[in-house]
Amino acid sequence: MAATHSVMVFAEQNGGRVHPVAYELLGKGRDIADRLGTELSAVLVGNDLAAAAQELIYGGADAVYVFDNPALDSFDIMNYRRSIVDLAKEVQPDVILLGATAIGRSLGPRLAAALGTGLTADCTALEVDGEGHLVQIRPAFSGNILAHIKTDTRPQMATVRYKIMQALPRDCSRTGRVTSRAVALEEPLAVMARVAAGDATGTSVAEAEVVVCGGRGLKKPEDLKLLQQLADAVGGVLACSKPLVDAGWLEKDQLVGFSGNTVRPRIYFAVGVSGSSQHLIGMRNSDTIVAINTDPSADIFQVADYGIVGDLYDIVPRLTAAVQTSRSRGDREQAACN
Ligand SMILES: Cc1cc2nc3c(=O)[nH]c(=O)nc-3n(C[C@H](O)[C@H](O)[C@H](O)COP(=O)(O)OP(=O)(O)OC[C@H]3O[C@@H](n4cnc5c(N)ncnc54)[C@H](O)[C@@H]3O)c2cc1C
Repeated sequence: MAATHSVMVFAEQNGGRVHPVAYELLGKGRDIADRLGTELSAVLVGNDLAAAAQELIYGGADAVYVFDNPALDSFDIMNYRRSIVDLAKEVQPDVILLGATAIGRSLGPRLAAALGTGLTADCTALEVDGEGHLVQIRPAFSGNILAHIKTDTRPQMATVRYKIMQALPRDCSRTGRVTSRAVALEEPLAVMARVAAGDATGTSVAEAEVVVCGGRGLKKPEDLKLLQQLADAVGGVLACSKPLVDAGWLEKDQLVGFSGNTVRPRIYFAVGVSGSSQHLIGMRNSDTIVAINTDPSADIFQVADYGIVGDLYDIVPRLTAAVQTSRSRGDREQAACN
C-alpha cells in the first residue's frame, strides 16, 4: 500500500545507471522523511531497471516505483512527465525532489505546472520547520543572500544541485518495496538521437575528481592549452569561470559557480581566478583547493588549502612538468615491482 504525504525522489538514470545526484537526494530525503515520520520513495523511469531499483533501496528508499519500458530507453519529456504526474496524483507525496541536472531542470517545471504547485530551483539546502513545512534554501540576488522559501501548495517541489547533499553509505541489508507501474505512452514530440556528456574521457565537470579551472588571469584563448596540459597530467577536467564562457572561450557546461556547475572534486585548481562569491558558491566544498594568483589579496586564497602567489604562465608549466616527472617515476617503480 502506497504511503501518502511521503517524500518522493526522482531517480534520474541513463542506460540503467542511476545518476549519483539521486543517491544524494535519497540521503537528504531520508532525513526529511524521518523528520516528518513518513515514507521515502524513488521514481525510476526507463528501460531494464530491476538492478537500478534495488540499488535505490540500498541507497535509502523505502519504496521504488518503476516505469520500465523499451520505449523509455532514452529521456522523453512527455512520457516522463505523464508517468510521474499520474503517480504523484495517486500517491500524493508532500515533497518531490529532483536533481538540478539538464533532465531535472527540464522535468521539474513541467511536473510542477501539471500538479498545480510551485518549484524552487537549484536549492543548496533543505530543512523542515517546526510545523513540518519544507524550507527550500537557495542563493538569491547573485548569490549575495540565501532565500528561505516555503510552498503553500502540495507537493512541495525542489531541484537540488549535484554534489551538495550527502548520499548515505550503500547498505545492502536494507529492504523495501519495488512496485512496477503500467506505462501509458504518448506520441513522441521529438526523438533523442544521442546523449553526449563531458569531455573526451566522458567525465563531466560536475562529476570530475580533479578540476583545473581557468579564470580571467588567462590572456588569450590559446593559453587554455596550458591548463589542459595540467589537467591531462593530473587526470582532471578543464573548467572555467564566467568571463571565459562569456567570451566564448569555453562552453557553459564547463562553467563553475552560481550560473553553472557545483563541483566537489578531490582537488580543485583555481588558476587566475579571483574568487568572487558567485564562483566560490560552486567550488568551496572541494576537498583540497589549490589557488594560483598574482594577487596575494585575492579572495580565492581565503578558501584555498594551498596558495601559490605568482604568474600562472610561470607556475602552471612547471607544475605540469613536475607532475609528469613524478608520474613517470611512479610508473617506472611500479614496472620494476611487476
Ligand atoms: C548573476 C551573476 C552570476 C554569476 N555567475 C557566475 C558563475 O557561475 N561563475 C563565475 O565564475 N562567475 C560568475 N559570475 C561572475 C562573477 O561575479 C565574477 O565576475 C567572475 O567570477 C570573475 O571571474 P574571474 O575570477 O575569472 O575574473 P577576475 O575577477 O577578473 O579575476 C582574475 C584573477 O586573475 C588574476 N591574474 C591576472 N593575471 C594573472 C596571472 N598572469 N597569473 C595568475 N593570476 C593572474 C588576478 O589577480 C585576478 O584575481 C556571476 C555574476 C553575476 C552577476
